[in-house]
Amino acid sequence: MKKIGLLVIIAALAVVFFYFDLHKLLTLDGLKSGLDTFEAWRAESPLLIGGAFLILYVIVTALSLPGAAIMTLAAGALFGLGWGLLIVSFASSIGATLAFLVSRYLLQDTVQKRFGDRLKAFNEGIEKEGAFYLFTLRLVPIFPFFLINLLMGLTTIRAFTFYWASQLGMLAGTFVYVNAGTQLGQLDSLSGILSPPLLLSFVLLGVFPLIAKKLINLIKARRVYAGYTKPKTFDRNLIVIGGGAGGLVSAYIAAAVKAKVTLIEAHKMGGDCLNYGCVPSKAIIKSAKIAQQMRNAENYGLESSEPTFSFKKVMARVHDVVSKVEPHDSVERYTSLGVDVVQGYAKLIDPWTVEIQLNEGGTKRMTARSIVLATGARPFVPPLPGLDDVGYYTSDTLWEEFAKFDEPPKRLVVLGGGPIGSELAQSFARLGSNVTQVERGERIMIREDQEVSELVQKSMRADGVNILTSHNAVRCEKEGDVKRLIVEKAGVESVIEFDALLCAVGRQARLEGYGLENLGIETDRNIVTNDYLETLYPNIYAAGDVAGPYQFTHVAAHQAWYTAVNALFGTFKKFRADYRVIPWATFVDPEVARVGLSEQEAKEQGIAYEMVRYEFDELDRAIAESATKGFVKVLTVPGKDKILGVTIVGEHSGDLLAEFVLAMKHGLGLNKILGTIHTYPTWAESNKYAAGEWKRAHTPERILSWLEKYHTWRRG
Ligand SMILES: Cc1cc2nc3c(=O)[nH]c(=O)nc-3n(C[C@H](O)[C@H](O)[C@H](O)COP(=O)(O)OP(=O)(O)OC[C@H]3O[C@@H](n4cnc5c(N)ncnc54)[C@H](O)[C@@H]3O)c2cc1C
Repeated sequence: MKKIGLLVIIAALAVVFFYFDLHKLLTLDGLKSGLDTFEAWRAESPLLIGGAFLILYVIVTALSLPGAAIMTLAAGALFGLGWGLLIVSFASSIGATLAFLVSRYLLQDTVQKRFGDRLKAFNEGIEKEGAFYLFTLRLVPIFPFFLINLLMGLTTIRAFTFYWASQLGMLAGTFVYVNAGTQLGQLDSLSGILSPPLLLSFVLLGVFPLIAKKLINLIKARRVYAGYTKPKTFDRNLIVIGGGAGGLVSAYIAAAVKAKVTLIEAHKMGGDCLNYGCVPSKAIIKSAKIAQQMRNAENYGLESSEPTFSFKKVMARVHDVVSKVEPHDSVERYTSLGVDVVQGYAKLIDPWTVEIQLNEGGTKRMTARSIVLATGARPFVPPLPGLDDVGYYTSDTLWEEFAKFDEPPKRLVVLGGGPIGSELAQSFARLGSNVTQVERGERIMIREDQEVSELVQKSMRADGVNILTSHNAVRCEKEGDVKRLIVEKAGVESVIEFDALLCAVGRQARLEGYGLENLGIETDRNIVTNDYLETLYPNIYAAGDVAGPYQFTHVAAHQAWYTAVNALFGTFKKFRADYRVIPWATFVDPEVARVGLSEQEAKEQGIAYEMVRYEFDELDRAIAESATKGFVKVLTVPGKDKILGVTIVGEHSGDLLAEFVLAMKHGLGLNKILGTIHTYPTWAESNKYAAGEWKRAHTPERILSWLEKYHTWRRG
């Protein structure tokens, strides 16, 4: 009841304010036209007018009415800088606190009761850092003050803290506005506009938010770096830890712009992609595909035959491919590019110092103004009872270990139905292993649309992969030489005997052992970074798998650009990492490629879309190559040709996607793709035909019926 009473009073005061047109007074024109009268009143009884002004200011802010900014200018014009600042500083803080208390009284209980659980972390943050948050919000006025008053009332911050942090935080801004107001009073002729003090006041108004932001960053940095002594000079501009895609590109860019950069790699240059990931997996996929094509040679008018081959040679080719790519990422190449490469294990000592356990023995310390962490990820090994006893492989060990075999494992279990598990399960099945793939989810490649998973599953099953979806791996058992995996589905256990087990259930960021803990660098699944890829310490950046959220070589390289540029030139301009258009491909057969939204995601996120499809069984080139499985599926904004997302399933889909990636990145719609000449007969024509499908679905029927009439008339 009391709350309703308070609401009625507030509403009544607001009605009075607008009914008597007081809001018109609180505009720049209103202020200027009344300035002479106000001046006369103030000259007659300064105390009374000063007091009345203060009370009015309190009421306006307490009721969250518009006009506080104009009143601040007016305070300068009427009372001068000193008194104006004093009056407004107190009036605005008292008014803001009253608004805060009203909001707290009316709404805090309800909000905390309803959303308390979800607000827990926020409340804890407010309790610890509330004064600083508020101070920041007051100093950099990106949100309207009245909103801050009302929202802060819903939090658990103490009223006194709110008061003093507001008064302190608003002081600089109030000064700038009141000072501008003092000049406003003297604006009595056109030439006055150009008077230096007035110009300076307005320049101050403009640059104030920028200066305030710098100040906040400075305060934040001081808090983070407290307890460390920053070196007076640095050995390097940049130290990059990790020689995978992320680290290599960061170091490359730094050297290209003539910075002194050291790249530290503990193991193999090129990181996971070259040595254990993309490169060896794509090499084995190719051998396996040829083997399968031999089995299906009759599709091409040839005799089908069971491929005969030496598995050792297949694996030797994989290593050969890796060694052919190796020079691109080698120490020699990077040294020649101007990067100082050090082989050893790096550890952060403080925000600017890195200690290296050199591979050749001994340690070395060096300092840098900025550091990029590109330490990557490693395969996640599930805590499965008995797993260590039976032994297992991961993408880290598989290439070396399988190369020792004369034959592929007879019975191979692949744990995991993601991209890596699916690519390898299909390849080893094609190379002759009896593969069972175990996936906990209801389908493999769960990030893609259901129909995509189904098409891939069908194809892999046809290749002989026994795909067990909705199956949980429970434990492993060993009896003599016999190894078993026990899986469970809907409460029923079953047993899979195997010769080799490959864990491909995901990859976890490398977060331990190199100093993150000592420096208190925040981590969750990855190193926590802001939009500029800065960690807790603004001079330490993270890129690639260790930073997330995507685990792709091209994303690591993309992030690397931002880390290098922000680290070296961030004092002048920083760039936010841009994840709007991220493509990826899974190199199963049929290949799956995607950029932007899938249909499933659009539905889950409630995003309106239209969809067109083009099937490869209509494409001349696909027919000529007897490879008609798959489709191009494009999601667009309803009624427009703007692309929201594309999924391509089929031969070369990873390559075909590039055209859509370019279009999305540069805002080109399907009409532009349709208007582009595509060579006949190529796979790329499918992109144009998908655009054609969209056009057909958007034919202007009315114009066509007019055209029909026109042609009829022309025939006479
Ligand atoms: C089987 C498989 C297939 C894949 N296929 C593809 C694909 O087709 N396409 C794709 O885009 N991605 C693919 N990926 C993912 C890709 O490999 C990764 O996204 C990429 O390697 C990430 O690069 P990075 O620089 O973040 O990390 P990494 O390549 O892991 O490099 C990190 C490096 O840091 C080093 N390091 C770590 N800590 C330290 C330290 N303290 N001191 C010194 N050095 C350190 C490590 O030794 C490592 O070399 C695949 C991955 C796997 C496993």
